[in-house]
Formats: sequence, structure tokens, C-alpha cells
Amino acid sequence: MPNKNKNDNINENIKKDLEKCTRCGLCISNCPIYDIIKDENNTSRGLILKLLGYEKKFLSEKELKGDLKICLNCSKCASNCPSKINTSLIFAYKNANFSPSKFSQRLLLILKLLPIKILYFLNFFKNLKKPSENSSEGPLKSNIYYFKGCVSKAQHKKTFLDKILYNPDFSCCALPYLTGGDIKNYEKAKEKNTKLIKEANLVVFDCATCKNTVSQYETLNEDDKKKLVLFDEILKDKKLKLKKNSKYFNRTITFHKPCHLNKNDFEKIENFIKNIEGINYKKLENADKCCGFGGSYFLFHPVISSGIAFKKAKDIKKTNADLILTICPSCVFGIRLFQLLSFNFKKTLDLRDFIEKETIS
Ligand code: SF4
Ligand code: SF4
Repeated sequence: MPNKNKNDNINENIKKDLEKCTRCGLCISNCPIYDIIKDENNTSRGLILKLLGYEKKFLSEKELKGDLKICLNCSKCASNCPSKINTSLIFAYKNANFSPSKFSQRLLLILKLLPIKILYFLNFFKNLKKPSENSSEGPLKSNIYYFKGCVSKAQHKKTFLDKILYNPDFSCCALPYLTGGDIKNYEKAKEKNTKLIKEANLVVFDCATCKNTVSQYETLNEDDKKKLVLFDEILKDKKLKLKKNSKYFNRTITFHKPCHLNKNDFEKIENFIKNIEGINYKKLENADKCCGFGGSYFLFHPVISSGIAFKKAKDIKKTNADLILTICPSCVFGIRLFQLLSFNFKKTLDLRDFIEKETIS
């Protein structure tokens, strides 16, 4: 049974990774869950210790399951771990293995994917402007692939990136499958995406979470991973400016860093935004702190999620920004929701939509 062997290999690798933890505790300070509930059982170090206890049969599945479920899978601990342990991936795999039944896995997945399905449904009826016969629209570079995230696909039949890049219709990055416990579909999507990435020269993402998830595929080598970029990379040499009629002229704009956006990409994006003519950029205090939404996390852990999100809303308010930008649709939804709940009615936009609607080169 090939699947069993694959799972055995994954579990063996996880065991080896767990042994690498030196208990340094560097993962604790930036764990958004610890920030709210102050319980080390729910940090990376605590979960690793519990998983080791489980492997050695000191702990039962029941004693571990509840704590694993509280993890947001934000990857912040992994990005801060000197032993390079892929903590959030381990927690997601283990969580999937411990899920009680196929039925509850399916139900969880349906709930996670429901908002995306609704968006698809609403957009199905939207008319697409057909390019005119003489139009020059079409992929400029057929070896540069566009990894359009599921939410982007559901929201927009075409974005400006569809017009300049080749869209080979990648599968979902598969994070919802992984965190929903559906390892079979996670592996299937990973296989399809890996094949496409290997044939491309460059793969351009419009979502930091998709990029982060794909860059964790163990099926990609270091050279493949170097091909993965966010879309600001292909626009950085263009001199962008706000459109004359943009309402954000000389208004204050800030940027929320999604948990899955790495430090290097964050710096590049900040510089990219600052270089847009007509923008008054203000750095968000604690820009790196989680927005708390975590896709469906909000539905299953509303108290923890709200605790994190209201802290973020407070920091946003302090900037007096007229517009909040970010580069992950889940963060856009989360920030919009908690902006409303904290009576701050300033707009939140995905960076790609902002570039498309408000700027010209
Ligand atoms: S940062 Fe890494 S090595 Fe240190 S305690 Fe956390 S998981 Fe273990
Ligand atoms: S993935 Fe995020 S929520 Fe989970 S333990 Fe790591 S830092 Fe905490």
C-alpha cells in the first residue's frame, strides 16, 4: 500500500525533527496563541515535548489532541526556530492523524472551503470583458507562471497578473487540506503543483500564505524554491504612481504583515509600497503580529481569535491610516471584520487589488 509507506516515512521524519528541539524557547515569544492564553502547552516547545511524550507512550492521544487543535498553523515558530524544525507542518500532520473520523474531517473541510465556494458561485455569473481582436492582452512570458491563490480565483476571473503571466491553473496550495486533515488531497495538490513549478522559470504568487505553503513542499529542491516569488518582485523596476483620481493621494497607508510572509519578502514589499509615487507610508507598530483570523480558525476558536484580532485592530487605529494593505486574502477578511467590530471604518485591501485599481506606471 503506497500511501501507508508514504505516511510511515512522514512519521519517521517527524520523529527525527522532534528530537532536534533544544528547548531554547525562542518559539514562545512570537506565538500568537501564547500571547493570549499564556500556557506553554500551546507553544511549539510545549507541543513538541508532548509529542515526544506521546511517541514514548507516556501520554495518550487524548492528552495531546486538544492542545494541538489550538495551534493556528501560523508558522511563526518555524521561522524563529534555530534548529530549523518545521513545527507548524508537524502539528498539522499530527492533527490530521488524530482527527476522529473521515466524516468529521470532511465536515471541517467543507466548512473551511465554504466561503471560497460562495465567492466562486457569485463570480460565476460575472461577465468577462473579452479582449478585442487587436488586443495585445495575453501572457508576455510563457515560462513565468502565475500561482493564483484559491481566493483570488474565486474573487476575480482575471487579475492584471493573468494578463502578463501564464496561468497554468495550479491546484490549491493545499494548506486548507492539510489543516483540515485531508492528507490525501494535500499530497495530490502538492504533486500537481510540484510538476508545474519544475517546468517554470519563475513562479509568481499573489498571496504570502500560498507561497509559504508551497515553499514547504519537500518535493521541491533549493533551486525550485528560488523560483518562488511574490508579485512585487516582477514590478519592482517599474515606477508606479497613484492614478490622478485615486482617493489615496497623500493619504496615510499602512501594511499588515501576514504571519506567512517571511522577513525578507516583508522588507521588499515595504520598499515596493514606499516607492509608489503619491503614497504616505506609515509603518504599523507590531506589523508582524497575527491578525487572529486564520481562515476558519475564527469559527472554531472565537475567543482566542478575537483576543489576537482586537490587539491588531488597536495597533491599526494608532497609525491613523486611511488604508490598510496586506498580501493574504484571509488577513484581508480578518482585518476588515475586526476593523468594523472596533468601529474603525477605514478600508482594507489586498495589495494586488490596490496596485490594479489605484496605480499606473
Ligand atoms: S525554537 Fe525550535 S528548538 Fe527552540 S524550543 Fe522552539 S521548537 Fe525547540
Ligand atoms: S504555528 Fe503559530 S500558533 Fe502554532 S505553535 Fe507555532 S507560533 Fe504558535
